[in-house]
Formats: sequence, C-alpha cells, structure tokens
Amino acid sequence: MSCYDCALQYAILRKQWRDQPIASHQLVQDKLTWMISEITKAQLLVLQVGRLKDAGKVEHQHISMAKRNNVWMALECARLSRDILGANGVADDYPIMRHMMNLESVKTYEGTHDVHSLIIGQSVTGIDAF
Ligand SMILES: Cc1cc2nc3c(=O)[nH]c(=O)nc-3n(C[C@H](O)[C@H](O)[C@H](O)COP(=O)(O)OP(=O)(O)OC[C@H]3O[C@@H](n4cnc5c(N)ncnc54)[C@H](O)[C@@H]3O)c2cc1C
Repeated sequence: MSCYDCALQYAILRKQWRDQPIASHQLVQDKLTWMISEITKAQLLVLQVGRLKDAGKVEHQHISMAKRNNVWMALECARLSRDILGANGVADDYPIMRHMMNLESVKTYEGTHDVHSLIIGQSVTGIDAF
C-alpha cells in the first residue's frame, strides 16, 4: 500500500510529454488499476482467513493461500511502483526499493512461494508432490 500510494502521488505530480501528468496515460492507469484491485482482493482474502480462524475452521492450506498470494502481490506492486517512478524508483528518496528488497526476503521467510504451492496442491488433489 505504501508503494501504491507513492506511485499514485508521483504519477499525478510528474509531468512528461506535452506537459501532462504521467497519470493521464492509459498504460500508467492500467498499472495503478491492477495494484488497487490486487490490494483489495488480498485484503478480502486475509479478512476471510481471519473469519475462518475466529470460527475455529482455519486450516494450514488457508494460511498458505493467504501468504502465497499476498506476498507475491505485494512484490508485484513494489515492482510496478518502481517502474512508474522511472529512475527515481531506485533512489532512496522514495520508499519503494526498501520495500522491494524486504519483500524479496519475505517471499522466502514466510515460507517459499513454491512450497506454499505444494501445500495447496496437496490439499486440493490429496496427492503429495513435495
Ligand atoms: C530474513 C529471514 C528471516 C528468517 N526468519 C526465520 C524465523 O524467524 N524462523 C524460522 O524458522 N525460519 C526463518 N527463516 C528461514 C526461512 O523459513 C527459510 O529460509 C525458508 O523456509 C526456506 O528454507 P531454505 O532457506 O532452507 O530454502 P530451501 O528449502 O533450500 O529452498 C530453496 C528453494 O528450493 C525450493 N524448494 C524446496 N523444496 C522444494 C520442493 N519439494 N519442490 C519444489 N521446490 C522446492 C524452494 O521453494 C526455494 O525456492 C528466515 C529466513 C530469512 C531469509
């Protein structure tokens, strides 16, 4: 959400081509649209996992689904946000690269993306592919 917010504010302020904000370009709006849609879906996913936990019905594959999706989504948002900031995206004047580097390690330490895939795959097929 920090990366998305940074990219949104930057896209409105940064003018390029005919003195227009880059937020006025369709390709930039597509990236912002993707991010806010995926952030919203990710929030709904963890809300549902929380509801299952409160009801005593949560299972480990639900946790895997939330971690696998939301860490991937956050990392993709960081990458898209960095892209929207152009060269400024790699500068430490903005928070994006710090989040991106942190998220690269989160993608491993919250359980790797691939191992979460195997956990969900085992749950839906009943077949162990580890
Ligand atoms: C910053 C940081 C903090 C951490 N903090 C903690 C902590 O507080 N507590 C804790 O317990 N651990 C912690 N860890 C360890 C973390 O949980 C492990 O690094 C993680 O589970 C991956 O294990 P590994 O590094 O041994 O990689 P490996 O298990 O060697 O995996 C390497 C690669 O092989 C893939 N792989 C492995 N097995 C399979 C398979 N069967 N099929 C397909 N692909 C496979 C993985 O997905 C990954 O891409 C931390 C790690 C980091 C980086």
